[in-house]
Amino acid sequence: MPEEGPYTLRILRVDLGTGKVSEELIDGETTRRYVGGTGLATKYLWEEVPAGVEWSDPENRLTFFTGPLAGTRVSGSGTFSVTTLGACTNMCGTSQANGFFGAFMRTHGVDGVIVQGAAEKWTRLHIHDGTIQLLGAEHLLGKDTWETEDAVKEEIGQRCSVFSIGPAGENLVRFSAIVGDHGHVAAHNGVGAVMGAKKLKCISTTKGDSKPRVEDPERLVAVAKELAKVSKEVDPGMMLYGTNAGIAPLSAMGAVPIRNYTTNVFPEHNTFVPEYLRAHFKSKPAACWACVIAHCRMMEVTEGPYTGFYGEEPEYEGNAEMGPLIGMNEPGSTVMLCNLVDRLGFDINESGYMIAWLMECYERGLLAKSDLDGVEMRWGDAEAVATMLRKIAIRDGCGDFFADGVKRAAERVGGEARDCAVYTLKGASPRGHDHRGHWLEFIDTCLSNTGTVETGGHLFTPPNLGLDRVQDRFDPIAMSTMNAKLNGGRNLEDSLGICRLCTPNLALTLECLNAVTGWDYTVEEAQEMGLRIVNLMRMFNFRHGLTKEVEAPSERYGSTPVDGPAAGISIRIHWDAIRDNYYEQMGWDVETGKPLAETLEKYGLEHLAKESSV
Ligand code: SF4
Repeated sequence: MPEEGPYTLRILRVDLGTGKVSEELIDGETTRRYVGGTGLATKYLWEEVPAGVEWSDPENRLTFFTGPLAGTRVSGSGTFSVTTLGACTNMCGTSQANGFFGAFMRTHGVDGVIVQGAAEKWTRLHIHDGTIQLLGAEHLLGKDTWETEDAVKEEIGQRCSVFSIGPAGENLVRFSAIVGDHGHVAAHNGVGAVMGAKKLKCISTTKGDSKPRVEDPERLVAVAKELAKVSKEVDPGMMLYGTNAGIAPLSAMGAVPIRNYTTNVFPEHNTFVPEYLRAHFKSKPAACWACVIAHCRMMEVTEGPYTGFYGEEPEYEGNAEMGPLIGMNEPGSTVMLCNLVDRLGFDINESGYMIAWLMECYERGLLAKSDLDGVEMRWGDAEAVATMLRKIAIRDGCGDFFADGVKRAAERVGGEARDCAVYTLKGASPRGHDHRGHWLEFIDTCLSNTGTVETGGHLFTPPNLGLDRVQDRFDPIAMSTMNAKLNGGRNLEDSLGICRLCTPNLALTLECLNAVTGWDYTVEEAQEMGLRIVNLMRMFNFRHGLTKEVEAPSERYGSTPVDGPAAGISIRIHWDAIRDNYYEQMGWDVETGKPLAETLEKYGLEHLAKESSV
């Protein structure tokens, strides 16, 4: 990257079909409009993935982009985003992973990699000395993500970061993830399946010698220090216990998913809180690049049937998905299963809802033992879960039927089985919450462009934007309006190259961005940028088949809780009003959900208006 003039980004493009590598420089104006990460990647998707292309086609793009803060002294700045036409929704998918990859890539002057085409033979990519090499990967086939990482590290023989797909991605399981740095995951919307379709087993980068360009190093040191201080103070629970600190408050809201949404009562709650896990199991920190929060940990199970098991401490999502959601009441089993999900290369969310659905179907006789190749899917049976996950990962027997994810499997079975599956009609399952007690995320999940939450995040919160919080969490219109007001924040976060847990303060984060780039980004420009990406993604999704009808929950997802803190409160009866209000707030046509011409113009996307009227 040039060290003078406007702040620019350098992208490498790899065509796996031809083996050709090229590079392109993103000019200063474009960089400021799209920032990097998810923002810049969405621009590429729009320009290069036309209508009719499917997620598994060679014409699809798979991007690994980081942003201006990555590799700097800002806490948690080892982050990158994977963006593509995702396999679960066949619409936009973007998923962020932390660790070291984003920082290491920038030590070679590389801000992003675009992968296009598909290789004939399994390939791995390696960034080193400012460029990228295509290398053979046939010998890595069948290895899980941790085995792949270890094998590639041994081959490279120096410090590096490796992200790979596991057996699930190799076998094009739609809900496959990309996993690296022993426990970090780009999980959502089947980004790993896209990687598998391109016959790309892994991507790695060594740590180079150069440092990312910083316009005002002194200012950055001061602001990064202040941001780190605020990050540590703002959420003491996160500092102590990581994302599992959410178990107790979410439980009190009725927002922890339990037994496939059949209940909100979780008597074993006390053995899943982080205080219990840390007191009963051994663990040690495993922080990402420059992170002061350092919430990630490695864990050894020291009691129960999996005593001696060593792996990553589950995040909240895994703890919920492989815990209460599947009727598990033994926390050591949850640790083992979360690690198995990562190693096989699955998205933990879709995996959890798939297993929970199979368990309910088995219990109610909607799926027979013979439909499950003899595996008795009883609530909380860790060995049955492990067996089924392995079958799905390699599409063995009934595993092939379930490898296309919850929505497709449930709709193929049909009837009562379909009606008890948790998914959005777009084709993805929600995060590890019972959203019937957490309406902001429910609305976001059904209406987002990415197959998972799009609005929620740490930058655009009511306090950061000077907004009053909604007092009644079950007020349908107020929650829908708030979702629109906070929109764009996550897309901005995922464009910066920094972990979202390290961005609790919008003003300080923007100051860091300005110190690095020499810009004078304001809150208004940040909101405009975020909403530009939301609208661009939306236009991309309409091009790829989005309709108003699929912006809705499945029968069970939108059902009324029968017990617990949200008992008897229905979101479904308000759904049409929620969706229409959201469209209106976003400046979208209420009849179709498409961005209006004036909305596109507002965000500098007027050139898209022609496609909007199709
Ligand atoms: S907060 Fe956690 S996930 Fe984020 S950078 Fe720090 S250790 Fe990594």
